[in-house]
Amino acid sequence: MTNHFLEVKIQDHSYPIFIKENAVEQINDIIDGIGNFSNIVIITDDLVARLHLSQLEESFKKFKRKYHKVILPNGEKSKSFYQLENLMNSILSLKVNRQCLLIAFGGGVIGDIVGLASSIILRGLPYIQIPTTLLSQVDSSVGGKTGINTKHGKNLIGTFKQPLAVISSINILKTLNQREINSGYAEIVKSALIKDKKFFYWLNENATKLLNLEYDECSFAIKKSCEIKSQIVAVDEKEAGLRALLNLGHTFGHAIESFVNYSGKIKHGEAVLIGIVMAIKLSIKLNFCNSEILREFENHLKLLNLNNSLEDFNISINPKIFLELMSYDKKIKNNKINFILLKDIGDAFIYNSIDKEFLQNFIKKELS
Ligand code: NAD
Ligand code: MG
Repeated sequence: MTNHFLEVKIQDHSYPIFIKENAVEQINDIIDGIGNFSNIVIITDDLVARLHLSQLEESFKKFKRKYHKVILPNGEKSKSFYQLENLMNSILSLKVNRQCLLIAFGGGVIGDIVGLASSIILRGLPYIQIPTTLLSQVDSSVGGKTGINTKHGKNLIGTFKQPLAVISSINILKTLNQREINSGYAEIVKSALIKDKKFFYWLNENATKLLNLEYDECSFAIKKSCEIKSQIVAVDEKEAGLRALLNLGHTFGHAIESFVNYSGKIKHGEAVLIGIVMAIKLSIKLNFCNSEILREFENHLKLLNLNNSLEDFNISINPKIFLELMSYDKKIKNNKINFILLKDIGDAFIYNSIDKEFLQNFIKKELS
C-alpha cells in the first residue's frame, strides 16, 4: 500500500502532508519528528469524538504521552466568536506556554477555528491538522487560511497560519455519509479543472472507486488535489491574485449557499459543482471555450450520479436576488466580481471585466 507524502512549500513555513491508510496509529512518530512539545491539546467536535477520538487517545496512551482535550459542538455554528472564546479559555486554563501543540482533529470547522486560536493564543502556538472529512483533507487543511463567521458573513474574521503538519487517514473517512464524500469530491474535480487535464481524465476512469473510498484511488486523488492547491498557494499565499483560481465555481456556489442561509439544504461542494457548471456555461457564452467541455463535465457528473442543477435540490432563486448575493463577496476588488473561467479542462483563468448587462442576461437565462 503506497503511503503518500508531499511538502507544501510556503516561504519560511513549509510543512509536510502525510496521507496514509491509518495515520492515527503512527501519530507519535510523526509528532516526534516535528518537535518537542510541553503540552498537547486535542481539539475536536462531539461527533468526531464519539466516532474516532478513542483511537487517537489509545495511540497517545500507548506512548505514555500526556494530552488534554477540548470538545466543541459539531457543525458550522461552532465557527463563532463565542466558541473561539470558549476554546481559548479552555486552552489558557491549562497554563500553556508557546511549546504547547494544538491538534485540530475534525473537519474544516475544527481546522478553521483551531488554526485561528493557534495564531492568536500567546501570539502563536504550533498546531497540526488531522483532517477527518474528505473536504478538509483535500482543501481546508492546505493553505493556512483560518477563520470564524460573524453576523456579517462567513469567514470574515481570520488569519493566515500554516500548520506544522497535516496527517490524513483514509480509514477515518469511512464513517462519512455519501453527501459529505461527494461534497469533498467537488473540490477534487475542481482542482483538476483548474490546472490538470490529465488528472481530470484519470478521475473519469477512477472516481467511482475514489467515491467508494478505495485506498489507492482515494489517496492518489487527495495527494493530487493537495499538490495542485499547494502549488497555487506557494505562489500566492495571501491571495493577491493567482490563489483566486481556487474559487472556480465558488462565486456562483456561494450565492446558492447564502440563499439557503448555509442551512445544509445544499452542501458546499454540491453548490460548487452547480457553480462550476455555470462557470463553464459563462466561459462558453464569452467564447473562451467550446461547448464540448460542458458536455464532458456534465457526463462526468452523470457517470458519478452527482447532482448538477438547482432543481435537483428543489431550490429556485430569483435572478435579481442571485446577482445581489453574488455581488457580496469579500474577494470583490474595485467593485468587480472575479469570475474564474475555463479556456479548456485544466486551464482556468481570472476574469473580472464582465459587462453588467451581459451578466444579468446570463443569470436570468440560467435561472429560468
Ligand atoms: P465540518 O467540519 O462541519 O464537518 C462536516 C460534518 O462531518 C460535521 O458534522 C462533523 O462532525 C462530521 N464529521 C467530521 N469527520 C467525520 C468523520 N470522519 N465521520 C463522520 N462524520 C464526520 O465541515 P467540512 O465539510 O469538513 O468543512 C467545511 C468548513 O471548512 C467550512 O466552515 C468552510 O468554511 C471551511 N473551509 C475552509 C477552507 C480553508 O482554506 N481554511 C477551505 C474550505 C473550507
Ligand atoms: Mg470550497
